[in-house]
Amino acid sequence: MTHITVVGSGPSAVHFSLSVLKKGHHVVMVDVGESKPGPVGPEQSFNQLKTGLQDPVEYLLGRSYEAVIYPGTAGEYYGFPPSKRYVFSSPSVYRVESTGFSSLASFARGGLAEAWTGGVYPFNEYELRDFPIAYSHMRSCYSEIARRIGISGLRDDLAEFMPLHDHLLGPLDLDEHSEDLLRKYERKKNLFRRRLNCVIGRARLATISQDWADRKACTYRGRCLWGCPQDSFYTPSLTLEECERYESFRYVPGCYVSHFRIGKDGRASHLMIDRLDAKEREAWEIDTLVLGAGTLSTSRIVLESMRQHDGTVVKLTGLMDNQQILVPFVNLDLVGHAYDDERYQYHQVAFGLIADDPFDYVHCLITTLKSALVHPLIHRTPSDMRFAIFLFKHLHAALGLVNMNLSDDRRGTNYVTLREDGAKGDATLALHYEPRANHATRIQHALRRVKRVLRHLKCVVPPGQVHVRPMGASIHYAGTLPMSRERRPLTVSPNGQSHDFENVYIVDGASFPALPAKNITFTLMANAVRIAESGF
Ligand SMILES: Cc1cc2nc3c(=O)[nH]c(=O)nc-3n(C[C@H](O)[C@H](O)[C@H](O)COP(=O)(O)OP(=O)(O)OC[C@H]3O[C@@H](n4cnc5c(N)ncnc54)[C@H](O)[C@@H]3O)c2cc1C
Ligand code: SF4
Repeated sequence: MTHITVVGSGPSAVHFSLSVLKKGHHVVMVDVGESKPGPVGPEQSFNQLKTGLQDPVEYLLGRSYEAVIYPGTAGEYYGFPPSKRYVFSSPSVYRVESTGFSSLASFARGGLAEAWTGGVYPFNEYELRDFPIAYSHMRSCYSEIARRIGISGLRDDLAEFMPLHDHLLGPLDLDEHSEDLLRKYERKKNLFRRRLNCVIGRARLATISQDWADRKACTYRGRCLWGCPQDSFYTPSLTLEECERYESFRYVPGCYVSHFRIGKDGRASHLMIDRLDAKEREAWEIDTLVLGAGTLSTSRIVLESMRQHDGTVVKLTGLMDNQQILVPFVNLDLVGHAYDDERYQYHQVAFGLIADDPFDYVHCLITTLKSALVHPLIHRTPSDMRFAIFLFKHLHAALGLVNMNLSDDRRGTNYVTLREDGAKGDATLALHYEPRANHATRIQHALRRVKRVLRHLKCVVPPGQVHVRPMGASIHYAGTLPMSRERRPLTVSPNGQSHDFENVYIVDGASFPALPAKNITFTLMANAVRIAESGF
Protein backbone atom coordinates (compact mmCIF):
# COMPACT_ATOMS: atom_id res chain seq x y z
CA MET A 1 0.00 0.00 0.00
CA THR A 2 1.45 3.35 -1.09
CA HIS A 3 0.75 6.82 0.33
CA ILE A 4 0.14 8.98 -2.69
CA THR A 5 -0.18 12.77 -2.73
CA VAL A 6 -2.13 13.94 -5.77
CA VAL A 7 -2.16 17.57 -6.88
CA GLY A 8 -5.39 18.71 -8.54
CA SER A 9 -8.97 17.48 -8.83
CA GLY A 10 -9.51 17.80 -12.60
CA PRO A 11 -10.44 14.86 -14.85
CA SER A 12 -6.90 13.43 -14.90
CA ALA A 13 -6.40 13.58 -11.12
CA VAL A 14 -9.78 12.23 -10.03
CA HIS A 15 -9.75 9.22 -12.36
CA PHE A 16 -6.17 8.37 -11.41
CA SER A 17 -7.17 8.63 -7.74
CA LEU A 18 -10.28 6.50 -8.04
CA SER A 19 -8.29 3.72 -9.69
CA VAL A 20 -5.53 3.66 -7.06
CA LEU A 21 -8.09 3.85 -4.24
CA LYS A 22 -9.75 0.76 -5.70
CA LYS A 23 -6.36 -0.95 -5.55
CA GLY A 24 -6.10 -0.21 -1.81
CA HIS A 25 -3.68 2.76 -1.83
CA HIS A 26 -4.02 5.87 0.33
CA VAL A 27 -4.56 9.20 -1.39
CA VAL A 28 -4.31 12.77 -0.15
CA MET A 29 -5.59 15.15 -2.84
CA VAL A 30 -4.30 18.72 -2.55
CA ASP A 31 -6.23 21.34 -4.48
CA VAL A 32 -7.07 25.01 -4.63
CA GLY A 33 -10.63 23.75 -5.10
CA GLU A 34 -12.88 26.73 -5.83
CA SER A 35 -16.34 25.21 -5.54
CA LYS A 36 -19.52 25.66 -7.52
CA PRO A 37 -22.65 27.44 -6.33
CA GLY A 38 -25.71 25.28 -5.56
CA PRO A 39 -28.22 24.46 -8.36
CA VAL A 40 -30.81 27.09 -9.16
CA GLY A 41 -34.43 26.22 -10.04
CA PRO A 42 -33.55 22.60 -10.88
CA GLU A 43 -36.96 21.84 -12.42
CA GLN A 44 -37.01 24.79 -14.79
CA SER A 45 -36.01 24.98 -18.43
CA PHE A 46 -33.75 27.76 -19.68
CA ASN A 47 -36.64 29.97 -20.80
CA GLN A 48 -38.61 29.28 -17.60
CA LEU A 49 -35.65 30.63 -15.64
CA LYS A 50 -36.17 34.01 -17.31
CA THR A 51 -39.57 34.39 -15.64
CA GLY A 52 -39.25 31.97 -12.71
CA LEU A 53 -36.22 33.37 -10.93
CA GLN A 54 -36.42 36.23 -8.50
CA ASP A 55 -33.53 37.96 -10.25
CA PRO A 56 -33.03 36.36 -13.68
CA VAL A 57 -30.77 39.20 -14.83
CA GLU A 58 -28.28 38.53 -12.05
CA TYR A 59 -28.29 34.79 -12.77
CA LEU A 60 -28.02 35.06 -16.54
CA LEU A 61 -25.93 38.20 -17.01
CA GLY A 62 -24.22 38.68 -13.65
CA ARG A 63 -24.54 41.19 -10.82
CA SER A 64 -22.48 43.74 -12.74
CA TYR A 65 -23.50 42.43 -16.18
CA GLU A 66 -20.14 40.70 -16.53
CA ALA A 67 -21.59 38.06 -18.89
CA VAL A 68 -22.75 40.63 -21.42
CA ILE A 69 -20.73 40.56 -24.64
CA TYR A 70 -20.70 44.13 -25.87
CA PRO A 71 -20.81 45.22 -29.51
CA GLY A 72 -17.32 45.40 -30.95
CA THR A 73 -16.04 42.40 -28.98
CA ALA A 74 -14.21 40.42 -31.61
CA GLY A 75 -14.53 36.74 -32.19
CA GLU A 76 -16.32 34.73 -29.55
CA TYR A 77 -19.96 33.76 -29.90
CA TYR A 78 -20.69 33.22 -26.25
CA GLY A 79 -19.16 34.11 -22.91
CA PHE A 80 -18.99 32.12 -19.71
CA PRO A 81 -22.10 32.57 -17.59
CA PRO A 82 -21.79 33.98 -14.05
CA SER A 83 -22.55 30.52 -12.60
CA LYS A 84 -19.29 29.21 -14.14
CA ARG A 85 -17.02 32.09 -13.15
CA TYR A 86 -15.66 30.10 -10.20
CA VAL A 87 -14.07 27.72 -12.69
CA PHE A 88 -11.76 30.43 -14.00
CA SER A 89 -10.86 32.44 -10.92
CA SER A 90 -7.22 32.03 -9.97
CA PRO A 91 -5.26 32.78 -6.80
CA SER A 92 -3.09 35.90 -6.96
CA VAL A 93 0.09 33.81 -6.51
CA TYR A 94 -0.47 32.26 -9.95
CA ARG A 95 1.05 34.67 -12.47
CA VAL A 96 1.27 33.95 -16.16
CA GLU A 97 2.37 35.86 -19.25
CA SER A 98 2.44 34.65 -22.81
CA THR A 99 3.34 35.42 -26.38
CA GLY A 100 1.35 33.83 -29.20
CA PHE A 101 -0.73 31.82 -26.75
CA SER A 102 -3.92 32.75 -24.94
CA SER A 103 -4.00 30.50 -21.90
CA LEU A 104 -6.68 29.57 -19.43
CA ALA A 105 -6.24 27.66 -16.19
CA SER A 106 -8.68 26.49 -13.59
CA PHE A 107 -8.31 26.17 -9.84
CA ALA A 108 -11.76 24.74 -9.33
CA ARG A 109 -12.90 21.60 -7.56
CA GLY A 110 -13.10 19.45 -10.71
CA GLY A 111 -10.88 21.73 -12.82
CA LEU A 112 -11.60 23.11 -16.29
CA ALA A 113 -14.02 20.33 -17.11
CA GLU A 114 -16.52 21.84 -14.68
CA ALA A 115 -17.11 24.20 -17.63
CA TRP A 116 -16.44 21.86 -20.54
CA THR A 117 -18.83 20.95 -23.34
CA GLY A 118 -18.58 17.20 -22.82
CA GLY A 119 -17.28 15.97 -26.21
CA VAL A 120 -15.58 12.59 -25.65
CA TYR A 121 -13.69 11.19 -28.62
CA PRO A 122 -11.19 8.33 -28.23
CA PHE A 123 -7.89 8.54 -30.11
CA ASN A 124 -7.33 5.68 -32.54
CA GLU A 125 -4.13 3.70 -33.22
CA TYR A 126 -2.86 6.28 -35.76
CA GLU A 127 -3.45 9.14 -33.39
CA LEU A 128 -1.52 7.28 -30.68
CA ARG A 129 1.38 6.40 -32.99
CA ASP A 130 3.82 8.84 -31.32
CA PHE A 131 2.82 7.63 -27.87
CA PRO A 132 5.00 4.86 -26.42
CA ILE A 133 1.81 2.88 -25.81
CA ALA A 134 -0.45 0.93 -28.13
CA TYR A 135 -4.16 1.49 -28.65
CA SER A 136 -4.71 -1.97 -27.12
CA HIS A 137 -3.39 -0.58 -23.80
CA MET A 138 -5.96 2.19 -23.91
CA ARG A 139 -9.05 0.32 -25.03
CA SER A 140 -10.05 -1.10 -21.64
CA CYS A 141 -9.28 2.26 -20.02
CA TYR A 142 -11.64 4.08 -22.39
CA SER A 143 -14.27 1.48 -21.48
CA GLU A 144 -13.64 2.00 -17.78
CA ILE A 145 -14.05 5.77 -18.13
CA ALA A 146 -17.24 5.27 -20.15
CA ARG A 147 -18.57 3.06 -17.34
CA ARG A 148 -17.74 5.71 -14.75
CA ILE A 149 -18.95 8.86 -16.47
CA GLY A 150 -21.70 7.61 -18.81
CA ILE A 151 -21.27 8.35 -22.53
CA SER A 152 -24.05 8.64 -25.07
CA GLY A 153 -23.44 7.94 -28.74
CA LEU A 154 -24.01 5.52 -31.56
CA ARG A 155 -22.13 3.02 -33.71
CA ASP A 156 -22.21 4.92 -37.01
CA ASP A 157 -19.86 5.98 -39.81
CA LEU A 158 -17.64 7.85 -37.38
CA ALA A 159 -16.76 4.59 -35.62
CA GLU A 160 -14.15 3.95 -38.32
CA PHE A 161 -12.23 6.94 -36.97
CA MET A 162 -13.38 6.81 -33.36
CA PRO A 163 -13.00 3.32 -32.02
CA LEU A 164 -15.91 1.91 -30.07
CA HIS A 165 -15.55 0.98 -26.43
CA ASP A 166 -17.87 -0.72 -23.96
CA HIS A 167 -20.69 1.04 -22.10
CA LEU A 168 -21.75 3.35 -24.91
CA LEU A 169 -25.29 4.40 -23.91
CA GLY A 170 -27.81 5.15 -26.64
CA PRO A 171 -27.71 8.63 -28.16
CA LEU A 172 -29.60 11.65 -26.86
CA ASP A 173 -32.78 12.77 -28.68
CA LEU A 174 -31.79 15.02 -31.54
CA ASP A 175 -32.88 18.60 -31.93
CA GLU A 176 -34.68 19.35 -35.21
CA HIS A 177 -31.71 21.08 -36.81
CA SER A 178 -29.20 18.31 -36.03
CA GLU A 179 -31.73 15.76 -37.28
CA ASP A 180 -32.06 17.67 -40.55
CA LEU A 181 -28.30 17.70 -41.11
CA LEU A 182 -27.94 13.98 -40.43
CA ARG A 183 -30.88 13.18 -42.72
CA LYS A 184 -29.25 15.04 -45.60
CA TYR A 185 -25.97 13.26 -44.98
CA GLU A 186 -27.69 9.85 -45.03
CA ARG A 187 -29.26 10.69 -48.39
CA LYS A 188 -25.95 11.62 -50.04
CA LYS A 189 -23.56 9.50 -48.03
CA ASN A 190 -21.57 8.27 -51.01
CA LEU A 191 -20.93 11.79 -52.21
CA PHE A 192 -19.75 12.87 -48.78
CA ARG A 193 -17.46 9.88 -48.43
CA ARG A 194 -16.07 9.59 -51.96
CA ARG A 195 -15.97 13.18 -53.16
CA LEU A 196 -15.61 15.16 -49.97
CA ASN A 197 -13.65 12.62 -47.90
CA CYS A 198 -15.97 13.38 -45.05
CA VAL A 199 -17.89 11.27 -42.54
CA ILE A 200 -20.67 12.60 -40.38
CA GLY A 201 -22.31 11.05 -37.34
CA ARG A 202 -23.62 11.43 -33.83
CA ALA A 203 -21.54 13.23 -31.27
CA ARG A 204 -20.12 11.21 -28.40
CA LEU A 205 -21.14 13.02 -25.25
CA ALA A 206 -20.48 12.77 -21.54
CA THR A 207 -24.21 13.23 -21.01
CA ILE A 208 -26.41 10.34 -20.04
CA SER A 209 -29.37 9.41 -22.22
CA GLN A 210 -30.64 6.95 -19.60
CA ASP A 211 -30.40 6.74 -15.82
CA TRP A 212 -26.84 5.68 -15.03
CA ALA A 213 -25.42 4.73 -11.62
CA ASP A 214 -27.25 7.17 -9.33
CA ARG A 215 -27.66 9.91 -11.94
CA LYS A 216 -30.82 10.80 -13.85
CA ALA A 217 -31.04 10.82 -17.65
CA CYS A 218 -30.98 14.16 -19.45
CA THR A 219 -34.42 15.81 -19.41
CA TYR A 220 -33.59 18.36 -22.10
CA ARG A 221 -33.86 21.51 -20.02
CA GLY A 222 -31.42 23.33 -22.30
CA ARG A 223 -29.27 24.70 -19.50
CA CYS A 224 -26.04 22.84 -20.13
CA LEU A 225 -23.94 26.01 -20.44
CA TRP A 226 -25.18 27.35 -17.10
CA GLY A 227 -24.53 24.02 -15.39
CA CYS A 228 -26.75 20.95 -15.54
CA PRO A 229 -28.97 21.17 -12.43
CA GLN A 230 -29.34 17.39 -12.19
CA ASP A 231 -25.88 16.06 -13.06
CA SER A 232 -26.95 14.34 -16.27
CA PHE A 233 -23.98 16.13 -17.79
CA TYR A 234 -20.74 14.71 -16.36
CA THR A 235 -18.26 16.86 -14.46
CA PRO A 236 -15.18 15.59 -12.56
CA SER A 237 -16.52 16.78 -9.20
CA LEU A 238 -18.88 13.77 -9.43
CA THR A 239 -15.88 11.41 -9.47
CA LEU A 240 -14.32 13.41 -6.64
CA GLU A 241 -17.48 12.71 -4.61
CA GLU A 242 -16.96 9.01 -5.38
CA CYS A 243 -13.36 9.20 -4.14
CA GLU A 244 -14.58 10.88 -0.96
CA ARG A 245 -16.53 7.71 -0.09
CA TYR A 246 -13.23 5.90 0.53
CA GLU A 247 -11.79 6.07 4.06
CA SER A 248 -8.33 5.97 2.53
CA PHE A 249 -8.97 9.26 0.71
CA ARG A 250 -8.55 12.81 2.04
CA TYR A 251 -9.38 15.91 0.02
CA VAL A 252 -7.63 19.10 1.14
CA PRO A 253 -8.93 22.19 -0.69
CA GLY A 254 -7.68 25.75 -0.12
CA CYS A 255 -4.07 24.77 -0.89
CA TYR A 256 -1.95 26.23 -3.68
CA VAL A 257 1.07 24.06 -4.48
CA SER A 258 4.14 26.16 -5.18
CA HIS A 259 6.69 23.40 -5.81
CA PHE A 260 8.22 20.23 -4.39
CA ARG A 261 11.49 20.23 -2.53
CA ILE A 262 14.17 18.01 -4.07
CA GLY A 263 16.17 15.90 -1.62
CA LYS A 264 19.85 14.87 -1.85
CA ASP A 265 18.80 11.59 -3.44
CA GLY A 266 17.08 13.50 -6.26
CA ARG A 267 13.62 12.49 -5.06
CA ALA A 268 10.80 14.87 -4.19
CA SER A 269 10.85 15.08 -0.39
CA HIS A 270 8.28 17.76 0.52
CA LEU A 271 5.37 19.51 -1.13
CA MET A 272 5.49 23.27 -0.58
CA ILE A 273 1.98 24.59 -0.08
CA ASP A 274 0.47 28.05 0.37
CA ARG A 275 -2.72 27.71 2.37
CA LEU A 276 -5.07 30.29 0.93
CA ASP A 277 -6.31 31.21 4.41
CA ALA A 278 -2.85 31.60 5.99
CA LYS A 279 0.34 33.51 5.27
CA GLU A 280 2.96 30.88 6.05
CA ARG A 281 4.12 28.37 3.46
CA GLU A 282 3.84 24.76 4.67
CA ALA A 283 6.13 21.83 3.84
CA TRP A 284 4.37 18.45 3.66
CA GLU A 285 6.45 15.32 3.62
CA ILE A 286 5.66 13.14 0.63
CA ASP A 287 6.13 9.53 -0.30
CA THR A 288 4.87 9.41 -3.90
CA LEU A 289 3.80 12.58 -5.70
CA VAL A 290 1.32 12.59 -8.58
CA LEU A 291 0.91 15.79 -10.55
CA GLY A 292 -2.48 16.18 -12.23
CA ALA A 293 -2.78 19.94 -12.01
CA GLY A 294 -3.34 20.45 -15.75
CA THR A 295 -0.51 20.79 -18.28
CA LEU A 296 0.37 24.40 -17.47
CA SER A 297 0.21 24.15 -13.68
CA THR A 298 2.02 20.82 -13.62
CA SER A 299 4.77 22.32 -15.81
CA ARG A 300 4.98 25.33 -13.53
CA ILE A 301 5.33 23.16 -10.41
CA VAL A 302 8.17 21.15 -12.01
CA LEU A 303 9.93 24.31 -13.24
CA GLU A 304 9.58 26.08 -9.90
CA SER A 305 10.88 23.00 -8.06
CA MET A 306 14.07 23.03 -10.15
CA ARG A 307 14.45 26.79 -9.75
CA GLN A 308 14.04 26.63 -5.96
CA HIS A 309 16.48 23.69 -5.78
CA ASP A 310 19.52 25.19 -7.48
CA GLY A 311 18.40 28.28 -9.36
CA THR A 312 18.13 26.51 -12.73
CA VAL A 313 15.48 27.87 -15.07
CA VAL A 314 14.81 25.56 -17.99
CA LYS A 315 12.46 25.62 -20.95
CA LEU A 316 9.95 22.82 -21.29
CA THR A 317 9.55 22.66 -25.05
CA GLY A 318 6.78 21.06 -27.08
CA LEU A 319 3.75 23.01 -25.82
CA MET A 320 0.73 22.07 -27.97
CA ASP A 321 -2.89 23.05 -28.44
CA ASN A 322 -5.52 22.43 -31.11
CA GLN A 323 -6.10 25.33 -33.45
CA GLN A 324 -9.85 25.95 -33.43
CA ILE A 325 -11.78 27.79 -36.13
CA LEU A 326 -15.42 28.72 -35.64
CA VAL A 327 -17.56 28.64 -38.77
CA PRO A 328 -21.12 29.94 -38.33
CA PHE A 329 -23.73 28.91 -40.90
CA VAL A 330 -27.37 29.25 -41.90
CA ASN A 331 -29.30 26.12 -42.88
CA LEU A 332 -31.45 27.31 -45.76
CA ASP A 333 -34.01 24.54 -45.24
CA LEU A 334 -34.81 25.78 -41.74
CA VAL A 335 -35.21 29.51 -42.30
CA GLY A 336 -38.53 30.62 -40.78
CA HIS A 337 -38.94 27.44 -38.70
CA ALA A 338 -39.78 27.54 -35.01
CA TYR A 339 -37.17 26.20 -32.59
CA ASP A 340 -37.70 24.15 -29.47
CA ASP A 341 -35.87 25.54 -26.44
CA GLU A 342 -36.23 22.33 -24.39
CA ARG A 343 -33.34 20.61 -26.12
CA TYR A 344 -29.81 19.54 -25.32
CA GLN A 345 -27.75 22.69 -25.70
CA TYR A 346 -24.32 21.58 -26.89
CA HIS A 347 -23.23 19.81 -30.08
CA GLN A 348 -25.01 16.64 -31.22
CA VAL A 349 -23.34 16.12 -34.59
CA ALA A 350 -19.66 15.53 -35.32
CA PHE A 351 -17.83 15.15 -38.58
CA GLY A 352 -14.36 14.32 -39.74
CA LEU A 353 -12.37 15.38 -42.77
CA ILE A 354 -10.22 12.44 -43.77
CA ALA A 355 -6.62 13.17 -44.75
CA ASP A 356 -3.85 11.16 -46.47
CA ASP A 357 -1.97 11.10 -43.19
CA PRO A 358 -4.49 9.84 -40.59
CA PHE A 359 -2.91 12.13 -37.99
CA ASP A 360 -4.10 15.12 -40.03
CA TYR A 361 -7.78 14.12 -39.65
CA VAL A 362 -9.75 17.33 -39.03
CA HIS A 363 -12.26 17.00 -36.20
CA CYS A 364 -15.40 19.13 -36.44
CA LEU A 365 -18.33 19.57 -34.07
CA ILE A 366 -21.65 21.11 -35.07
CA THR A 367 -23.64 23.03 -32.47
CA THR A 368 -27.08 24.11 -33.61
CA LEU A 369 -28.61 27.13 -31.94
CA LYS A 370 -31.36 26.42 -29.43
CA SER A 371 -31.67 28.14 -26.06
CA ALA A 372 -28.90 30.70 -25.65
CA LEU A 373 -28.11 34.27 -24.75
CA VAL A 374 -28.48 35.63 -28.22
CA HIS A 375 -27.36 39.24 -27.85
CA PRO A 376 -23.80 38.55 -29.14
CA LEU A 377 -25.33 37.14 -32.33
CA ILE A 378 -27.83 39.93 -32.80
CA HIS A 379 -25.35 42.76 -32.47
CA ARG A 380 -23.06 41.13 -35.03
CA THR A 381 -25.76 41.54 -37.69
CA PRO A 382 -24.69 44.41 -39.97
CA SER A 383 -27.95 46.38 -39.66
CA ASP A 384 -29.91 48.48 -37.16
CA MET A 385 -31.17 46.74 -34.00
CA ARG A 386 -34.83 46.51 -35.06
CA PHE A 387 -34.03 44.75 -38.34
CA ALA A 388 -31.40 42.59 -36.64
CA ILE A 389 -33.97 41.31 -34.12
CA PHE A 390 -36.53 40.69 -36.89
CA LEU A 391 -33.94 38.79 -38.92
CA PHE A 392 -32.70 36.82 -35.95
CA LYS A 393 -36.22 35.63 -35.04
CA HIS A 394 -36.62 34.14 -38.51
CA LEU A 395 -33.15 32.65 -38.59
CA HIS A 396 -32.87 31.29 -35.04
CA ALA A 397 -33.82 27.68 -35.89
CA ALA A 398 -31.52 27.75 -38.94
CA LEU A 399 -28.32 28.90 -37.22
CA GLY A 400 -25.43 26.64 -36.36
CA LEU A 401 -21.72 26.69 -35.73
CA VAL A 402 -18.96 24.33 -36.82
CA ASN A 403 -16.06 24.12 -34.41
CA MET A 404 -13.16 22.87 -36.52
CA ASN A 405 -10.09 21.45 -34.75
CA LEU A 406 -6.61 20.82 -36.17
CA SER A 407 -3.95 18.50 -34.79
CA ASP A 408 -0.67 19.81 -33.35
CA ASP A 409 2.81 18.41 -32.79
CA ARG A 410 5.70 19.08 -30.42
CA ARG A 411 8.14 21.70 -31.70
CA GLY A 412 11.16 23.26 -30.04
CA THR A 413 9.90 26.76 -30.77
CA ASN A 414 6.98 26.39 -28.38
CA TYR A 415 7.67 26.27 -24.69
CA VAL A 416 6.80 26.91 -21.09
CA THR A 417 9.37 28.51 -18.82
CA LEU A 418 9.64 30.87 -15.83
CA ARG A 419 10.41 34.55 -15.80
CA GLU A 420 12.18 35.73 -12.66
CA ASP A 421 11.06 39.26 -12.01
CA GLY A 422 13.17 39.86 -8.92
CA ALA A 423 10.07 39.87 -6.72
CA LYS A 424 10.00 37.59 -3.70
CA GLY A 425 8.06 34.38 -4.09
CA ASP A 426 7.39 32.22 -7.11
CA ALA A 427 8.48 33.23 -10.60
CA THR A 428 5.99 34.08 -13.34
CA LEU A 429 4.97 31.30 -15.72
CA ALA A 430 5.94 32.32 -19.26
CA LEU A 431 4.48 30.68 -22.39
CA HIS A 432 5.55 31.06 -25.97
CA TYR A 433 3.92 29.62 -29.10
CA GLU A 434 4.72 29.93 -32.80
CA PRO A 435 2.55 28.18 -35.37
CA ARG A 436 4.02 25.90 -38.04
CA ALA A 437 5.30 27.59 -41.18
CA ASN A 438 2.34 26.27 -43.22
CA HIS A 439 -0.24 27.10 -40.54
CA ALA A 440 -2.27 29.64 -42.55
CA THR A 441 -2.38 27.32 -45.58
CA ARG A 442 -3.57 24.44 -43.41
CA ILE A 443 -6.37 26.56 -42.01
CA GLN A 444 -7.45 27.81 -45.44
CA HIS A 445 -7.41 24.29 -46.87
CA ALA A 446 -9.50 22.84 -44.03
CA LEU A 447 -11.85 25.80 -44.13
CA ARG A 448 -12.51 25.35 -47.82
CA ARG A 449 -13.37 21.71 -47.16
CA VAL A 450 -15.72 22.58 -44.29
CA LYS A 451 -17.52 25.13 -46.46
CA ARG A 452 -17.94 22.52 -49.21
CA VAL A 453 -19.42 20.05 -46.72
CA LEU A 454 -21.81 22.73 -45.48
CA ARG A 455 -22.87 23.61 -49.03
CA HIS A 456 -23.83 19.98 -49.62
CA LEU A 457 -25.92 20.14 -46.44
CA LYS A 458 -27.66 23.22 -47.90
CA CYS A 459 -26.01 25.55 -45.42
CA VAL A 460 -24.27 28.82 -46.20
CA VAL A 461 -21.55 30.63 -44.29
CA PRO A 462 -22.29 34.36 -43.97
CA PRO A 463 -19.34 36.42 -45.27
CA GLY A 464 -16.84 37.76 -42.75
CA GLN A 465 -18.11 35.65 -39.83
CA VAL A 466 -15.45 32.90 -39.63
CA HIS A 467 -13.37 33.26 -36.48
CA VAL A 468 -9.87 31.80 -36.16
CA ARG A 469 -9.51 31.50 -32.41
CA PRO A 470 -6.18 32.42 -30.84
CA MET A 471 -3.83 29.53 -30.06
CA GLY A 472 -4.56 28.40 -26.54
CA ALA A 473 -8.31 28.94 -26.86
CA SER A 474 -9.13 25.26 -27.34
CA ILE A 475 -7.73 24.56 -23.86
CA HIS A 476 -6.34 21.19 -24.95
CA TYR A 477 -2.84 21.84 -23.62
CA ALA A 478 -0.21 19.14 -23.82
CA GLY A 479 3.35 18.10 -24.53
CA THR A 480 5.73 19.79 -22.07
CA LEU A 481 7.00 16.68 -20.21
CA PRO A 482 6.36 13.96 -22.78
CA MET A 483 6.29 10.20 -22.30
CA SER A 484 9.36 8.56 -23.70
CA ARG A 485 10.82 5.05 -23.63
CA GLU A 486 14.31 6.54 -23.44
CA ARG A 487 15.41 7.95 -20.09
CA ARG A 488 15.85 11.55 -21.22
CA PRO A 489 15.75 14.58 -18.90
CA LEU A 490 12.41 16.39 -18.72
CA THR A 491 10.47 13.37 -19.93
CA VAL A 492 8.46 10.67 -18.20
CA SER A 493 8.27 6.92 -18.71
CA PRO A 494 5.29 5.36 -20.54
CA ASN A 495 3.83 4.88 -17.04
CA GLY A 496 4.07 8.57 -16.23
CA GLN A 497 7.08 8.23 -13.91
CA SER A 498 9.43 11.20 -14.11
CA HIS A 499 12.88 10.44 -15.54
CA ASP A 500 14.23 13.24 -13.33
CA PHE A 501 12.52 12.62 -9.98
CA GLU A 502 11.92 8.96 -9.26
CA ASN A 503 8.89 9.34 -6.96
CA VAL A 504 7.07 11.91 -9.13
CA TYR A 505 4.41 10.87 -11.66
CA ILE A 506 2.63 12.99 -14.23
CA VAL A 507 -0.91 11.98 -15.16
CA ASP A 508 -2.19 14.96 -17.17
CA GLY A 509 -1.67 16.29 -20.70
CA ALA A 510 1.89 17.45 -19.97
CA SER A 511 2.94 13.86 -20.71
CA PHE A 512 1.30 13.62 -24.18
CA PRO A 513 3.91 13.39 -26.95
CA ALA A 514 1.44 14.40 -29.69
CA LEU A 515 -1.94 16.08 -30.00
CA PRO A 516 -4.47 14.73 -32.51
CA ALA A 517 -7.35 16.96 -33.55
CA LYS A 518 -9.90 15.31 -31.28
CA ASN A 519 -10.81 16.75 -27.88
CA ILE A 520 -8.27 15.51 -25.40
CA THR A 521 -10.12 14.90 -22.12
CA PHE A 522 -11.46 11.39 -22.72
CA THR A 523 -7.88 10.31 -23.42
CA LEU A 524 -6.57 12.25 -20.39
CA MET A 525 -8.95 10.31 -18.14
CA ALA A 526 -8.25 6.95 -19.80
CA ASN A 527 -4.50 7.52 -19.67
CA ALA A 528 -4.68 8.41 -15.97
CA VAL A 529 -6.50 5.12 -15.36
CA ARG A 530 -3.87 3.27 -17.42
CA ILE A 531 -1.05 4.75 -15.32
CA ALA A 532 -2.84 3.88 -12.09
CA GLU A 533 -3.45 0.31 -13.27
CA SER A 534 0.01 -0.37 -14.63
CA GLY A 535 2.33 1.81 -12.56
CA PHE A 536 0.93 1.34 -9.01
C1 LIG B 1 -15.31 25.84 -22.10
C2 LIG B 1 -14.55 24.57 -22.18
C3 LIG B 1 -15.01 23.56 -23.00
C4 LIG B 1 -14.29 22.37 -23.08
N1 LIG B 1 -14.84 21.36 -23.80
C5 LIG B 1 -14.19 20.18 -23.89
C6 LIG B 1 -14.77 19.10 -24.59
O1 LIG B 1 -15.89 19.17 -25.10
N2 LIG B 1 -14.07 17.95 -24.67
C7 LIG B 1 -12.85 17.83 -24.12
O2 LIG B 1 -12.24 16.77 -24.28
N3 LIG B 1 -12.28 18.82 -23.40
C8 LIG B 1 -12.93 20.00 -23.27
N4 LIG B 1 -12.39 21.01 -22.54
C9 LIG B 1 -11.03 20.84 -21.97
C10 LIG B 1 -11.04 20.11 -20.65
O3 LIG B 1 -11.77 20.81 -19.70
C11 LIG B 1 -9.58 19.93 -20.19
O4 LIG B 1 -8.91 19.16 -21.17
C12 LIG B 1 -9.47 19.16 -18.88
O5 LIG B 1 -10.24 19.73 -17.86
C13 LIG B 1 -8.02 19.09 -18.42
O6 LIG B 1 -8.00 18.26 -17.30
P1 LIG B 1 -6.80 18.17 -16.26
O7 LIG B 1 -7.20 17.17 -15.25
O8 LIG B 1 -5.55 17.92 -16.98
O9 LIG B 1 -6.64 19.61 -15.60
P2 LIG B 1 -7.63 20.77 -15.14
O10 LIG B 1 -9.01 20.51 -15.58
O11 LIG B 1 -6.97 22.03 -15.57
O12 LIG B 1 -7.60 20.69 -13.55
C14 LIG B 1 -6.53 21.17 -12.81
C15 LIG B 1 -6.76 20.92 -11.34
O13 LIG B 1 -5.55 21.17 -10.64
C16 LIG B 1 -5.75 22.11 -9.59
N5 LIG B 1 -4.53 22.92 -9.53
C17 LIG B 1 -3.91 23.56 -10.55
N6 LIG B 1 -2.78 24.16 -10.11
C18 LIG B 1 -2.71 23.91 -8.78
C19 LIG B 1 -1.78 24.28 -7.78
N7 LIG B 1 -0.70 25.00 -8.04
N8 LIG B 1 -2.02 23.88 -6.51
C20 LIG B 1 -3.13 23.13 -6.21
N9 LIG B 1 -4.03 22.75 -7.14
C21 LIG B 1 -3.83 23.13 -8.41
C22 LIG B 1 -6.99 22.89 -10.00
O14 LIG B 1 -7.67 23.41 -8.86
C23 LIG B 1 -7.82 21.81 -10.72
O15 LIG B 1 -8.54 21.05 -9.78
C24 LIG B 1 -13.07 22.20 -22.38
C25 LIG B 1 -12.62 23.22 -21.56
C26 LIG B 1 -13.34 24.40 -21.44
C27 LIG B 1 -12.86 25.47 -20.50
S1 SF4 C 1 -30.23 19.48 -21.47
FE1 SF4 C 1 -28.28 19.89 -20.46
S2 SF4 C 1 -28.89 20.94 -18.56
FE2 SF4 C 1 -30.71 19.92 -19.34
S3 SF4 C 1 -30.80 17.94 -18.30
FE3 SF4 C 1 -29.75 17.66 -20.27
S4 SF4 C 1 -27.56 17.85 -19.78
FE4 SF4 C 1 -28.71 18.75 -18.06
